[in-house]
Amino acid sequence: MSASQLQRVVTEIADELRTRTDRGTVASYIPELARVDAKSFGLAVIDRDGNAAVAGDADEPFSIQSISKVFTLTLALGKAGDRLWKRVGREPSGTAFNSIVQLEYEKGIPRNPFINAGAIAVTDLILSGHQPKEALGEILRFMRFLADDHSIGIDEAVAASEQRTGYRNFALANYMKSYGVLENPVDFTLGVYFHHCAIAMSCRQLAMAGRFLARSGRNPATGHAVVPPERAKRINAIMLMCGHYDGSGEFAYRVGLPGKSGVGGGILAIAPGTASIAVWSPGLDVTGNSRLGQLALELLSKRMGWSIFG
Ligand code: GLN
Repeated sequence: MSASQLQRVVTEIADELRTRTDRGTVASYIPELARVDAKSFGLAVIDRDGNAAVAGDADEPFSIQSISKVFTLTLALGKAGDRLWKRVGREPSGTAFNSIVQLEYEKGIPRNPFINAGAIAVTDLILSGHQPKEALGEILRFMRFLADDHSIGIDEAVAASEQRTGYRNFALANYMKSYGVLENPVDFTLGVYFHHCAIAMSCRQLAMAGRFLARSGRNPATGHAVVPPERAKRINAIMLMCGHYDGSGEFAYRVGLPGKSGVGGGILAIAPGTASIAVWSPGLDVTGNSRLGQLALELLSKRMGWSIFG
């Protein structure tokens, strides 16, 4: 399909969804996120040739939240390789993103790197041997490099808001610390975690950052490998199985692509070999995943024939 046909489909989907009223509920447990306009909607697709098709608020930055966990996982695998899997599992959780009960059953080892506990353990690994500022700088530089955009930054108000109210995450982190799963002081690890969740990016920037996952680990603009092909395949596999928490099965069923959501209402989805896609609509369903975002991706995968299941 040509770039102009892709743009037509993207515009069509944004137009269809603009009038929807069943948008779900904007996250409010991080007070600063509740201020976002629920009517926002953005969609951006970067195809394998680097063409961008965008619609709606595709250039408006939003809080990427848990989508950052795809990139911290990538960094941590680069740093520790398979040693990472001693600290965190890679099975779907079937429980909420901030579930505490599962952690007790599993003796402080989080089920996967995308639930909060798992992502906190991954952040702790990136932090080891560094000061929190350096670790955060490394994560931010990686995002800017992947998106080829040096304007990407952190929304400090969102980070401070979560730091003030992140009681659950403090509970999860302290629990893991009691099992020796975290190496660094809990405050340091969570400081880095809250800040990388508070990175603000637009759909276009996020779709750019995801390109390497759609291109067997290579940055298509430079041809350089960001990660080996096998690692890109595995990150996509974890996105497919765990990227939407206890809504992962539903997302795979409806969309058929690896994807990672965030409570800011964004989703990064990958059509391997074909495209990197980002969508944003702040209203969430009961599993904390963007309601219209999932619908937009379902329509896109259907109309473009992009499901990994054929
Ligand atoms: N920063 C959020 C939290 O830890 C991320 C959750 C999410 O996006 N699902 O609760």
